[in-house]
Amino acid sequence: MAAALIKLPAELFALAEGSRFEGRLDVGELRLGPDSYRLDEPVTWEADVTNTGEAFLVAGVAHATARTECARCLSTVEESLTGSIEGYFLIDPEQRTVDGMEGDEFDVLPANHQIDLAPLITAGLLMELPGVPLCSEDCAGLCPSCGADLNEGPCACGGDPALDDFAQAAHPFAALRGLSLAGDAQPGDTAVDEGSGGNGGGGAS
Ligand SMILES: [Zn+2]
Ligand SMILES: [Zn+2]
Repeated sequence: MAAALIKLPAELFALAEGSRFEGRLDVGELRLGPDSYRLDEPVTWEADVTNTGEAFLVAGVAHATARTECARCLSTVEESLTGSIEGYFLIDPEQRTVDGMEGDEFDVLPANHQIDLAPLITAGLLMELPGVPLCSEDCAGLCPSCGADLNEGPCACGGDPALDDFAQAAHPFAALRGLSLAGDAQPGDTAVDEGSGGNGGGGAS
């Protein structure tokens, strides 16, 4: 993946100094679980870098347009993403801990004073991807039998009898369907239910 390197100028090494950086980054593709999102255009980003005395705080946003396939109908889904860029780079390379932060929430400023924002940019964009990409919340998907797009109306195959047969064959007790179970019904059960119902009514009055 391409890098988004920023070089911190000497004047930033004074307390409370800040500077804004911006640029473009060719990401190409984002992968989330089984899903792949294409980023045809470069990501545009901007970030403020502030000297806190202890570290350089990086805070910014990245904008991207990601395309993938609808999980149900396979049509192209386009997502406009605005991700956060967040980083914390310790100035003292000997420092090992930061109050209130886990070890993976901060980094150490490289000796050459260059920071690659690319990992922060992609991490922020990944957070914005949908769990399941859909062209719309109520996408009807494809007919599992003939593959027609059901968003365009009912398909010509008229359902999926083949899948119904498959579902029945796969069910371990499918063969028991249709057996008469009339012998299991006990007349005595019905009598007891009626009796208890009557007692309850009497107690309430
Ligand atoms: Zn769809
Ligand atoms: Zn069909």
